[in-house]
Amino acid sequence: IESKLPNLGTTIFTKMSKLAQEYNAINLSQGFPDFPPNQKLLEFVKQGLDENHNQYAPLAGLISLRKTLAEKLFKSYGSRYSAEEEITITTGATQAIFTAISAFIRKDDEVIVFKPAYDCYEPTIELYGGKPILIEMKAPTYKIDWQEVSAKITSKTKMIVINTPHNPSGTVLAKEDLLQLQQLVENTNILILSDEVYEHLIYDGKEHQSVARFPKLAERSLITYSFGKTFHVTGWKVGYCVAPEELMKEFRKVHQYNVFCVNHPMQWALNEYLQKPEHYLELSAFYQERRDYFLQQIKNSRLELIPAQGTYFQTASYKNITTEKDTDFALKLIKEKGLATIPVSVFNKNQKDEFMLRFCFAKKKETLAKAAAIINSL
Ligand code: GLN
Repeated sequence: IESKLPNLGTTIFTKMSKLAQEYNAINLSQGFPDFPPNQKLLEFVKQGLDENHNQYAPLAGLISLRKTLAEKLFKSYGSRYSAEEEITITTGATQAIFTAISAFIRKDDEVIVFKPAYDCYEPTIELYGGKPILIEMKAPTYKIDWQEVSAKITSKTKMIVINTPHNPSGTVLAKEDLLQLQQLVENTNILILSDEVYEHLIYDGKEHQSVARFPKLAERSLITYSFGKTFHVTGWKVGYCVAPEELMKEFRKVHQYNVFCVNHPMQWALNEYLQKPEHYLELSAFYQERRDYFLQQIKNSRLELIPAQGTYFQTASYKNITTEKDTDFALKLIKEKGLATIPVSVFNKNQKDEFMLRFCFAKKKETLAKAAAIINSL
């Protein structure tokens, strides 16, 4: 058969977590917490099951949950979205991203993607015949060069994908970045796909710059979110997409035949749990403490780093230790030292000699301490 994605292998997260198991390594690779979610959330799931919320949910998701999210978006970003028409619950952000791309990208459309990038954007664009136009952000600051973006916009540019807080770099976009983007897309038909799954994981008093804060961006944006990140339940695969009605209508045309609807009891439980805003507002402090703990533990190591501004990922340069390729070094770390990380070059094949690894700090302190002991011995 002729593959539609001939150059694509298995995702790095699957590979690394498998190796971590095989070698019994401490796993700071794939991004997921090694601690349980809040007991209250689990009790709501039980209640949802017991009260028999067990049949199909509405296509776009439980209306009670969508209303809660509309209110949350207004309180967080001052933007009004219609629960009925402009919010759709999805099977994690991955499905939201896939559906958003597949609903709009046609053959030969150009889609601007900033590298390094989370790994699901480009294959989805290519699957629909689109052409990813890659723009590099350089370690360690990973800033976007907006002049380069301007130069790469053509009459074929259909979409720009942004992601803040950013996986894998742990950086965040500033208000000025969003204003630059707004200026570039004004008077064009370019859509924005804004991946904001780490909206609540942002540190040192910074504010998340959602495109929803900027009406002229919001009017052309599909925004993706994930409860997996926010409530320590990556295995639930529940997220949502937010977009103006005209865009959401197209999104739902695909959604209804891709998944139809998302599992019902989890949606019910999430809605109950979301009634207390502290359940997500306390997240930044919670993870900042873990970031600081991890950085304190490795402060005398030979890694060089800028503290993550958001996400639960810390990137660091290991060039003081070795100048091996990051993929080789990461393998060696698992096999010989018992520590699994993610080599950043997998998110950016063109990256040359940046010697960066990504460490997930969504872990118990004892896990972080064990990982730090290995890092300090390098
Ligand atoms: N987003 C997670 C990460 O970056 C992994 C998700 C996945 O395995 N698909 O590690």
